[in-house]
Order: sequence, then C-alpha cells, then structure tokens
Amino acid sequence: MLSDIEIGRLGILADKRWRTTRKVFRNGRMVCSLLDGNTCTIYKERPILCRVFPFIAIPESDFIEVGIEVDPLAVRVAGADNTIYVIIYDTECPGVGDGVAPEPDEILDLTLRHLREMSCINGSTR
Ligand code: SF4
Repeated sequence: MLSDIEIGRLGILADKRWRTTRKVFRNGRMVCSLLDGNTCTIYKERPILCRVFPFIAIPESDFIEVGIEVDPLAVRVAGADNTIYVIIYDTECPGVGDGVAPEPDEILDLTLRHLREMSCINGSTR
C-alpha cells in the first residue's frame, strides 16, 4: 500500500482506491503501469514498498485467523493502534542476500519507515 505522501507524489499514476500504483493489463497479466519491459520508469523515486520488496508487514492477527503459527523469533512491530505486524519475506527471492539488495537490517529499517509514514507504527517489538 502507498502512503498518503506517495499517493500525492504519484498523482494520476496512483490508484487511490487500492492505494497502489495504477495497474495495466499486459501480455495476459496485470502489471504496474510504471513498468516498461523489465524496467521501472520511476526507479529512483519508486515507492518505499517497492524498495523493501520482498519484505512486507502483515498483521499477526491475519496469520492467526487462517491458523498459521508465526515463529516466536519472527520480527514484529507494534502499530499505533497496538496491531502487531509480522515482517515476512520471500527466501526464494534472488535479490535477498546476494549483495545486490540492501542488507536485511537496512530493508527492515525501510519497512519500518514505510509503516511510520503510513502512521501505522509506534515502535519495534523485536
Ligand atoms: S518498482 Fe516501479 S515498476 Fe515495480 S511496482 Fe514499483 S513502481 Fe511499479
């Protein structure tokens, strides 16, 4: 989800209803309208959520609701409304840990910044 700041910055390139970048149908798939071939056309200004991919913060209650037990050692952050978010990432992502992507701690910091920008969190419970 884009923060209000990012939605304002992206203007018509943002889908305000879904709080994402605008999507288009291309080659049988829904893709980000800012993607040209394999290149992000706003790479240097891409939203924080894109920068932190494959990391994402999901409310722990969503896992509980579908019966998934979260590792007690997982990184959690507390929301301003006391919602607990779990930071997850895709270990299959080729960008994780190969020196190309930022270090996991740096990505976590960006993830927390994104949540703060969205006024979702008040601190880490890690
Ligand atoms: S990185 Fe660029 S092309 Fe990819 S989803 Fe984000 S804005 Fe769209």
